[in-house]
Amino acid sequence: MNLKRYRVGKKLKLKDISTDDTDKLDRDEIEAETAEIGEQLTSLQERLYAEGKQSLLLILQARDAGGKDGTVKHVFEPINPQGVVITSFKVPTETDLKHDFLWRVHPHAPAAGMMAVFNRSHYEDVLVTRVHGLIDDETAKTRFKHIRHFEELLASRGTRVLKVYLHISPEEQRQRLQDRLDDPSKHWKFNPGDLKERALWDDYTRAYQDALTATSTDEAPWYVVPADHKWYRNRVISELLLETLQDMNPQYPKSEYDLTNMAVGEL
Ligand code: ATP
Ligand code: MG
Repeated sequence: MNLKRYRVGKKLKLKDISTDDTDKLDRDEIEAETAEIGEQLTSLQERLYAEGKQSLLLILQARDAGGKDGTVKHVFEPINPQGVVITSFKVPTETDLKHDFLWRVHPHAPAAGMMAVFNRSHYEDVLVTRVHGLIDDETAKTRFKHIRHFEELLASRGTRVLKVYLHISPEEQRQRLQDRLDDPSKHWKFNPGDLKERALWDDYTRAYQDALTATSTDEAPWYVVPADHKWYRNRVISELLLETLQDMNPQYPKSEYDLTNMAVGEL
């Protein structure tokens, strides 16, 4: 699969990017491929952990009902949970707001050997804040610069940073939010506030376009992943992780002991 076509460059017009691309493949084929990729991810994650030098950070951003939770649930299912730390960033607390916007984020960057997922992230500070007029354009620009430097810092320490925007259509969002209303077992997921944010669809589109183009760098590229079909979304993100881990090429370390003449005796 050619993943480059989803990578964000200097220009981005979300309206022109398909939300329901499936690479002309059907669901069964795609799901079989995702399962195969999952097996490879399992073994690469073990190597990453054993090597203990590099780390991987996946940043997930999306509109409400965009599928961040589902992505974490399905894409990371084959991976040993001991090797992955997932952090969800909610509305900042009073203490958070007494610091710079990266203060609450940095402690959750992955340690050597680990994988980390940000379910929402420091990007909220240039998205929701901007859409609601809590920051002006000048501040947003300054924050883009701080974000680029922050991610460069992570990269220089051996962290690969991958950023994914889950791209859904307004119709798909309508359907998913309506499902949460119609199905009592999904009521807990329904937040009336989501309807207010939905009404600001175009403002979010502009904010996303701006933020993604300003911060898609070689060290920390953004990918816009078609996400109307959950099975296709899972396939693309699994492969993104796979290609990245293959490129990182983690190695099992040599034992610090001379094991050649060692054996485990009977008791
Ligand atoms: P779900 O898709 O399950 O609803 P969620 O990520 O939307 O998950 P919520 O608790 O519903 O989780 O929402 C978190 C809220 O916190 C979002 O509305 C998000 O915009 C907001 N938020 C996160 N970070 C910031 C920030 N830095 N500034 C302002 N709001 C933020
Ligand atoms: Mg929500």
